[in-house]
Amino acid sequence: MDTEKHKVDPIASSSDERTGAATVALVGAGPGNPGLLTVRAVELLGRADLVLYDRLVPVRLLDFAPENAKRVCVDSLHGTHPERWPEIYRIAIDAARQGLRVVRLKGGDPFVFGRGGEEAEALRQAGIAYEIVPGVTAALGAGAFAGIPLTHRRHVSAVAFVTGHEKPDKTDSFLDWPGLARFPGTLVVYMGMARLSHIVEQLIAHGKAADTPAAAVQWATTGRQRTVTASLHDLPEAVRSAELKAPSLVIIGSVVELRDELAWFESRPLFGQRILVTRPRHQAGSMVARLEELGAVVSVLPTVEIRAPHDWSPVDCALSQLERYRWIVFTSVNGVEALLTRLRHVGRDLRALGSTQLAVIGPSTADALRRFHLEPDLMPPVFDSESLAATLLPHVAGHRVLLARADRGRDVLRERLGKVAEVEQIAVYSQVDALDPNAEAMEALRQGEIDFITATSSNIARSLLSRLDETSARRIRSGAIRLVSISPITSAAIVEMGFPVAAEARIYTAEGAIEALLTLRSQGP
Ligand code: SAH
Repeated sequence: MDTEKHKVDPIASSSDERTGAATVALVGAGPGNPGLLTVRAVELLGRADLVLYDRLVPVRLLDFAPENAKRVCVDSLHGTHPERWPEIYRIAIDAARQGLRVVRLKGGDPFVFGRGGEEAEALRQAGIAYEIVPGVTAALGAGAFAGIPLTHRRHVSAVAFVTGHEKPDKTDSFLDWPGLARFPGTLVVYMGMARLSHIVEQLIAHGKAADTPAAAVQWATTGRQRTVTASLHDLPEAVRSAELKAPSLVIIGSVVELRDELAWFESRPLFGQRILVTRPRHQAGSMVARLEELGAVVSVLPTVEIRAPHDWSPVDCALSQLERYRWIVFTSVNGVEALLTRLRHVGRDLRALGSTQLAVIGPSTADALRRFHLEPDLMPPVFDSESLAATLLPHVAGHRVLLARADRGRDVLRERLGKVAEVEQIAVYSQVDALDPNAEAMEALRQGEIDFITATSSNIARSLLSRLDETSARRIRSGAIRLVSISPITSAAIVEMGFPVAAEARIYTAEGAIEALLTLRSQGP
């Protein structure tokens, strides 16, 4: 080991000593559900330059890393197992020596069947400072999300984590089957699917009761979770007929019975439903979080992008003389953000709004204003342009009104308010169609792995529906994929393009669309 140490690049190691900063973090990603990342994992990801992740780590977790961070799936590295491993160390070590902040993101916990120990040893030998961040190991995730307490005072007071698939060069004798069969507690078997029959035979042959309750949990903690229960003896057959595959865990013990009462996750209203959210990524967050809370498997496919307007000069001109307007009308969150951010750019601040009245189209836009410490003066009872125009009309007669909006959209407000007021319409942002044909979500759609699509504006709907492949289009027309629309305007755009609308929000907000989806779902498939 000493000889290894002499090879260490002296500059890199002394700089590590100076700063004392860990340069490689071995981070547990948990079993798949993003909510199960630790706060420390999110912090480290948030400032990573390079993320080396395992295939089992859902790519969504990489969204916590900065956009320009490099992401490398270690399974894509050259060399086949087990020769591949040194390549991972080499990349991590090289990057750390260049001063990059490396996160080595591993499924579950890095030290539970994760080879984290070997990777940490390699880092130590190379003289690289490192940090280990534990993660929720799959057994804990599966126990919690399948409703199986791994220990329970009425059942057992011990639990053992076992690997069902060891290094190929290890013999079976490494696992003490008689000892495991006698173990007075719950057994959790990782990587056991390929050899499940063998494992069950061994346990029963060494005295474990054949009728011991058992479960297999696939993709635990995610919307794709599936659980099969049977007696220990019958489990391999039950797993086969349910076609459960890796990654799955096997849980053996009387605690499995408790699941009948405690399976909270799988009884959520949208459990297992695959939903495509078509909003721009930076605006999809809260909708995705809510759908996931309801148990759905959510993919995000942005179909429009928000950019700066083609020309700021009309905006700057309006901002420099805001006093002229009695009302400013906002019809989107983007409009609020664009206009108020630009205000600083022209050297002014919120005081420039003085006594100008602010109108918004709906609650999300109102919340966007509140984030700038501004309270809207007017919001219509129904969240569309028609209702906004009707509500505003009595207030604007004879006044000057500024409409801050996208560079495309309907002209309802200008037309209706223009009859009584002096209306100026400015494009504070530009909305362009953008659909990445290589996006993972696009592939899910092509493969028929989507049950519902939410359409949260007519532009979004048009952008998506005009770019669909023929098979997906047919699936929507036949009702295999169902479209949920945020409002009658959006529904009209969908119908105009020749597609059916399965449900429409009663209240024209993202939450309203989710409500519509829930109602549709409760009416059966
Ligand atoms: N370090 C990881 C385990 C890696 S071994 C941890 O602490 O969880 C890989 C095995 O973990 C898989 O074969 C499977 O048995 C189990 N596993 C990982 N994620 C899982 C999940 N979401 N659901 C069920 N089993 C999972």
